[in-house]
Amino acid sequence: MEKYDELIDLALRRGFFFPAAEIYNGPAGFWDYGPLGVTLKNKFIQLWREHLVKRDGMLEIDGAQILPQTVFAASGHLEHFVDPLIECSKCGTFYRADKLLSEKLGRDIPESLSCEEFDKLIGQAKLVCPRCKGKFKPTKKFNMMFSFSVGPRADEIVGLRPETCQSIFLDFPRLFRICRAKLPIALAQIGKAFRNEISPRQALLRQREFTQAEIEVFFNPERANEFEKFDQVADYELVMQLEGQSKPKKIKCADLVKKKIVSSKLIAYYLALLQQFYEKVGLCDFRFRQLGKDEKAFYAIDAFDFEVKTEIGWIELVACNYRGDHDLGGHQAGSKKNLTVLDEGKKVLPHIFELSMGVDRSIFCLLLQAIALEKVGKEERLVLRLPPRLAPISVAIYPLLNKDGLPEKAMEVYGQLKGWFDVIYDSSGSIGKRYRRADEIGIPFCVTIDHQTLKDNTVTIRDRDSMKQERIKIAELVNWLGKKVCG
Ligand SMILES: [Zn+2]
Repeated sequence: MEKYDELIDLALRRGFFFPAAEIYNGPAGFWDYGPLGVTLKNKFIQLWREHLVKRDGMLEIDGAQILPQTVFAASGHLEHFVDPLIECSKCGTFYRADKLLSEKLGRDIPESLSCEEFDKLIGQAKLVCPRCKGKFKPTKKFNMMFSFSVGPRADEIVGLRPETCQSIFLDFPRLFRICRAKLPIALAQIGKAFRNEISPRQALLRQREFTQAEIEVFFNPERANEFEKFDQVADYELVMQLEGQSKPKKIKCADLVKKKIVSSKLIAYYLALLQQFYEKVGLCDFRFRQLGKDEKAFYAIDAFDFEVKTEIGWIELVACNYRGDHDLGGHQAGSKKNLTVLDEGKKVLPHIFELSMGVDRSIFCLLLQAIALEKVGKEERLVLRLPPRLAPISVAIYPLLNKDGLPEKAMEVYGQLKGWFDVIYDSSGSIGKRYRRADEIGIPFCVTIDHQTLKDNTVTIRDRDSMKQERIKIAELVNWLGKKVCG
C-alpha cells in the first residue's frame, strides 16, 4: 500500500483531490478536485475527445443528470440496480451480504442471488457481525439510485442518473434523424453519474458521485462484419485474458474475429480504439478480461472489462458490453414509441455495443502508476512520472537568484510561454527545493534563468525523469517544449 498511501497524502497536501464538504465532515464517497486535479482531469478528457470521439467521428451529447423514474423502470434499474444489504440486529451496522460472505467463504458470491439464497448461505456459514458478533436481520435488496421528486406538488418522481448512457439511448432517434446519420453510428457523453454505494471507499475508486465517459455504438447486427474501418486495426494486438485463462496474452484483432472471441469486426475495432487511447495517455499493465457467464449481465453477448494492474490489485476502468437490443427494446416498450430506424431500406432496432469508462478511476490509476519514491544521492525524492501531455503543469520558470536582474528576465520568459503552456513562476527557496516541489506534482520541465542568460539569451532546461539539464536558446523554447509536451 506504499504508493497508495503516498498518493493520498500527496493529493491532500498539494490539492489534487480531497473529501467534499470537509469542514462539515461530509458523507463518504464525495470528492472535490483542486486546481492541479482539475487540470489533469481536463487534459485526460481532451485526449478522450481527440483520440476516441473525434478520431472516430462520434457525436457527443451532454444530457440532463435528472431523469424521470419511468426511464429507470424501462431500463431495469428500479428492479435490478440493487445490492444485497444486511443489518446487524445488535449494533445496526450495514454490510453488503455478497462481500461479507465472499470474505468468509473464500470464494466469489454473486450479488445477483435472491434474498432467500443469501439468508440460507448466511445461516450455513454461521455469519455474524464482524464488529459485535451480533446476528443479522434478513437480507434486503437495496436500490442504489438517488430518487426524489420535482415540482411544488412533489408528484413527479425522478432519479439522478446512475450512468450517463440512458440519455444517449433516449436521444438516439432525434440525433439519427437530424444528423441524417446511417448505421453504424457512435454517440458519446461525458458527465456525472450517481450511485448510493453502501460502502464507498478507496478515494476516487468507489464514489457516490463520479464522472463517466460512455460511448454507445448503434449498429445493424446483420451487418456488423461489413465494417471497413476494421482494416485499420486488423493487425493491431489487444492484450486479452480469455475466460478460464490465468494470464493475458496478445491477440491480433483479425484473430479475435476469426476465432470468434468477439462476435464481429465492429466490436474488435472499438476495443482496439479503446486500448490505443489508453496507450496514448500512458497507461501500462492493462488487459481486457473476458467475463464468464456468471459475471456478465443477462443481456450481454460479448463482455470484457478493461482493467489495469496496480499495487492494490487489478482495477476495472472500462466495461465493454455488447448489449444486443436490450436498451432500445426496453425504451421502445416503456415509451411506446417506435425506435426502429431504416438501414439499407429495412427497418431495424439497432443493437448496441457500449464502452463505459470511469474517468476518476482512470485518473486515480494513472497517478498510482506515476508516483514513485526514489533515492537521489543520500536524499529521497517523490516524483510523479505523468506523461508530459497529461501533467497539470508543463513548465516551471525559475530565476536562479532573486537579484541581479534574474527575476525580471525570468518573468519575461514566463510571459512568452504563458500563452502556449501551463506554466508557473517560482522564485522561493533554493533551486533544489524548487525541483522537489516540481517533481512531486509531475512538472516535466524546469527552466532556469541564470547569469549566462543575461549574456547570451540561453536557459537551462531540466528534465524531471532523468534530472539532466541542457542549455538552449530562449528563442527555441516554445518549439522545443511544444514537441515534448504535445508530441
Ligand atoms: Zn454488530
